[in-house]
Amino acid sequence: MTTPTQKAAAKKAPATTPATKKTAARKSTAPAKLAVKADESPWTKAELAEVRGDLNADRERLRSELNLAEHELHDLMRDAGDGAGNDQADVGSTTFERDHEMSLANNAREMLAQTERALARIEDGTYGVCEIGGEPIGKMRLMAFPRATLCLSCKQREERR
Ligand SMILES: [Zn+2]
Repeated sequence: MTTPTQKAAAKKAPATTPATKKTAARKSTAPAKLAVKADESPWTKAELAEVRGDLNADRERLRSELNLAEHELHDLMRDAGDGAGNDQADVGSTTFERDHEMSLANNAREMLAQTERALARIEDGTYGVCEIGGEPIGKMRLMAFPRATLCLSCKQREERR
């Protein structure tokens, strides 16, 4: 049972946690402590900015490539649908084109996913760690190939399978 005064008190106490602005000094400009090989120097802000810039640019490019390929594919599928009267050669070349567009789209989609994962890993600080072995991928390799999620030896092992 609540008395009127208790009610009033409850009403009067809205959760006004004083406006502590979340300027909680998280230095977002400093590069996270990302993994590097033992003989490599830590990531500098500039290096990280470069890699991130590359990844962002790749993401934009891949998105539009994917978009384009999916559009082409859509058109090809539609044309195939009303393909009455196509002779055999037309059908063959359409199939070829469609397979081609499909592999372009798949390729772009896969690279886009890799690029987005790399960007996410920069954010969460796991960028540069091999996804199989957990060892540092190496800054040099990442600067040359920013999407890399595997160290070179794991990558080569994967490819041999
Ligand atoms: Zn590895």
